[in-house]
Amino acid sequence: AHDVHIIGGGLAGSEAAWQLAKRGFSVRLSEMRGSGETTPAHQTDGLAELVCSNSFRSDDSDKNAVGLLHDEMRRLDSIVMSAGEVARVPAGSAMAVDRDVFSAEVERRLLAHPGITVVRERVDTLPDAGLTIVATGPLTAQALAQSIVAATGQDRLAFFDAIAPIVHRDSIDMSKCWIQSRWNKRTEASNEGGDYINCPMTKEQYLAFHQGLMDGEKTEFREWEADTPYFDGCMPIEVMAARGVETLRYGPMKGVGLDNPYDTSEEHPQGRWPYAVVQLRQDNKLGTLWNMVGFQTKLKYGAQVELFRTIPGLENAEFARLGGLHRNTFINSPLVLDRQLRLRGASHVRFAGQITGCEGYVESSAVGLLAGMMTAAELAGETWSPPPRSTAMGALLSHITGDAEAATFQPMNVNFGLFPPLHEVKKKQRKEAYTARAKADIGEWLAGMDAVPA
Ligand code: FAD
Repeated sequence: AHDVHIIGGGLAGSEAAWQLAKRGFSVRLSEMRGSGETTPAHQTDGLAELVCSNSFRSDDSDKNAVGLLHDEMRRLDSIVMSAGEVARVPAGSAMAVDRDVFSAEVERRLLAHPGITVVRERVDTLPDAGLTIVATGPLTAQALAQSIVAATGQDRLAFFDAIAPIVHRDSIDMSKCWIQSRWNKRTEASNEGGDYINCPMTKEQYLAFHQGLMDGEKTEFREWEADTPYFDGCMPIEVMAARGVETLRYGPMKGVGLDNPYDTSEEHPQGRWPYAVVQLRQDNKLGTLWNMVGFQTKLKYGAQVELFRTIPGLENAEFARLGGLHRNTFINSPLVLDRQLRLRGASHVRFAGQITGCEGYVESSAVGLLAGMMTAAELAGETWSPPPRSTAMGALLSHITGDAEAATFQPMNVNFGLFPPLHEVKKKQRKEAYTARAKADIGEWLAGMDAVPA
């Protein structure tokens, strides 16, 4: 018998197991690789295998959100961070690791811990009872995915992401754009006079933009992704553009019903509708992040930045996330999980890692770390207080468990747009202000935890 069953020995599952075991709880860690199963991306049977790049990205905790996340995880004795240190290879201000040394070190330490039993087995159904953490990642095996669908509802588990770029609100030039909903149809949530930021285009601008979409360099699908279905509403913008020069003007770039206040010319038989428009919609409750509606794309990142900065108002856009389309299994966490990562209606089951809708090695590990801590607190009968929202871990957790818009929920890296904004701080000093506040707040949170009797 064990205290907790963790399904998936990737980054999040390994981190959760470590956090529980070091607090004295016993864990069964089920990993299907090593039992004759694998995923389309993994190459080895090692726990915590890095499936693609060997980088944990920036290690700068003063200016960078993921670097800050490193710092917070180190303070919580993260096994991913400490094994990463052992495996570290030179990479300037980034943290990169030797992937084999890293995976071997995580595995060695988990196997050596008396509280952890690693079982090489595939799990096909969500357990009916017993504290469970599901950390099966973006390539969750099919039978378990079906079991998750049965528990969450058909449209609450996605098998592909269709990511439209997300722009930091304070990098949009509002002297060229305006806020308005088409035909002034406002929802209750509208706070600034409409739901959309509109970036207008003239005919010349539109034609050049259309050509740019056609010419821009695209990422190829991986072999095992090649049968990606372009389901409704998720078609890449360039695929739509290729159907005809007018297609986008009847689709996401439609200008009708939008009155451009900057168009001061006299002839407006139909209103001051722009020839074409790019619309952005609010993406988080804080209002700091806005997504480019309908702009999911396979354009390469460099090509996206270059082309999207030709859109009027987005010349200096800073992107919290660029567009993409990948195989990626994730649940609609803001709808199906509570603030403690527990499945609504089956609260013995927690989710952790990329399947919760975070994105990236470090983020997945961080959510595993939090799931482990939450489960440990539950077992110990302690009240769990989440890390403050002003910290990287708190911001990420708040986003996936409720602050993100459920209707457009897509996997997200940690970034300063998820933090409560510091409008009063000058833009140049803002990154340092976010990290300074976070470091002070995580310190206080940790001190508060130490004060709780074990
Ligand atoms: P994983 O690390 O995938 O762990 C899940 C584990 O669960 C796996 O070991 C799997 O074998 C196991 N499993 C699945 N189903 C079952 C089951 N039913 N029973 C038992 N075990 C099961 N992020 C980056 O930061 N940088 C990158 O370069 C990067 N590249 C990526 C490339 C690809 C192709 C993909 C798919 C993702 C990439 N990611 C990248 C995103 C993401 O950060 C990683 O996928 C990360 O490994 C997610 O961590 P995780 O613990 O949630 O899932």
